[in-house]
Amino acid sequence: MYDAKSLKAEEFISDEEIKETLAYADANRENIKLIDSIIEKAREKKGLSHREASVLLACEDEEKIRQIYELAEQIKKDYYGNRIVLFAPLYLSNYCVNGCVYCPYHMKNKHIARKKLTQEDIVREVTALQDMGHKRLAIEAGEDPVNNPIEYILESIKTIYSIKHKNGAIRRVNVNIAATTVENYRKLKDAGIGTYILFQETYHKESYEKLHPTGPKHDYAYHTEAMDRAMEGGIDDVGLGVLFGLEMYRYEFAGLLMHAEHLEAVHGVGPHTISVPRVKHADDIDPAAFDNGISDDIFAKICALIRISVPYTGMIISTRESQTVRERVLPLGVSQISGASRTSVGGYAEPETPDEVTSAQFDVSDNRTLDEVVNWLMKLGYIPSFCTACYREGRTGDRFMTLCKNMQILNCCHPNALMTLKEYLEDYAGEETRKIGMALIDRELENIPNPKVKQKAYECIHDIEGGQRDFRF
Ligand code: SF4
Ligand code: SF4
Repeated sequence: MYDAKSLKAEEFISDEEIKETLAYADANRENIKLIDSIIEKAREKKGLSHREASVLLACEDEEKIRQIYELAEQIKKDYYGNRIVLFAPLYLSNYCVNGCVYCPYHMKNKHIARKKLTQEDIVREVTALQDMGHKRLAIEAGEDPVNNPIEYILESIKTIYSIKHKNGAIRRVNVNIAATTVENYRKLKDAGIGTYILFQETYHKESYEKLHPTGPKHDYAYHTEAMDRAMEGGIDDVGLGVLFGLEMYRYEFAGLLMHAEHLEAVHGVGPHTISVPRVKHADDIDPAAFDNGISDDIFAKICALIRISVPYTGMIISTRESQTVRERVLPLGVSQISGASRTSVGGYAEPETPDEVTSAQFDVSDNRTLDEVVNWLMKLGYIPSFCTACYREGRTGDRFMTLCKNMQILNCCHPNALMTLKEYLEDYAGEETRKIGMALIDRELENIPNPKVKQKAYECIHDIEGGQRDFRF
């Protein structure tokens, strides 16, 4: 029986409810009156239920799809402005005891290079990341209680936060590790992590079990209920995601929104972010082997619908996607992207050579440097942001919503973006990027509505030029 408030995976992600939702969406895909009323509801920026959003996903009317895109762009502008937050993944270890059939780190893969960073390696990796200009990392590790126990993850987080190279600093460490216990989530919280990210991969239980034939990840309920345990352990910010291409995308989309509704219903806070990865080529993984792949058009539609369905949830696009696809979906609601990512273990300090046995999790489609990504974003009219202010000011959980409701985005996120961009330009940017960035900061400072905040932001920007760092609102 479907119950958003239940703590049992099979009740809050009820297969029956998803199937009924899809049937309802099919029955109403041409019901223009209903579709109009759903779009109207989304316009009020209160979000949509999984049923409503599923009707829009099923709708193929070109005019309505155009309206959905337009609305997604509007909501993105109203809530996120033209800022895009940047981060990088850091692979700690690719040892893994699971058997996920879509990931080259699966235990049976004998030809991938297995690597695990020592604390000294981490210092080298993080120094390389700081030298690029990164301030926000997402650490990744396979599930392996012997090679990657929680103590290793905690020690690594401590090492990462302790490294101060020139003007560099990692100010927020997000964590993407396997589902674990409340006790371990509490330890991660105490270690000062930002968001805990765990992709569901697929919400379809039967497929889930087939795609995860061996290892602890095989347990659908334990995996699906992980976010509840994370929140019980005190982590307010959790990041959801499905791997599009594993199950029917309409099923996944409904499941994803049901998961968000569940977190809201039980914990009073929805997910902090949603990621939308698609299956990509990797060592022994061929995406063509999964027959549920989605086209770029459907991918864009999903991004737009996530934006209008959960307006307060950030959306993340990684370098799995090409520059072209990223350019297409940025205006539709993406708020965070990774840049200059290496998906191999130790790949920042020592990039792998083409004839080396790889340790990478997937092939990166966007291979540009961080400077090129920053430059590109600015030329497209975005403000690249390295902001980590909320986390560091203790504004977790629903604070983004609070910022939005109090109309403080332009007085808070906006100056923070400009100040962190200024740091980047001073410390790391190439000449052309710096020139474009300086002009952008001058223009955008004028858009800060509160005169006191504007004055303070001007002063901070000036002080950054004089060598000071780390200002925030
Ligand atoms: S997806 Fe994660 S758990 Fe599965 S094999 Fe890859 S690293 Fe291991
Ligand atoms: S101020 Fe908070 S919500 Fe705004 S960009 Fe920075 S971290 Fe995000």
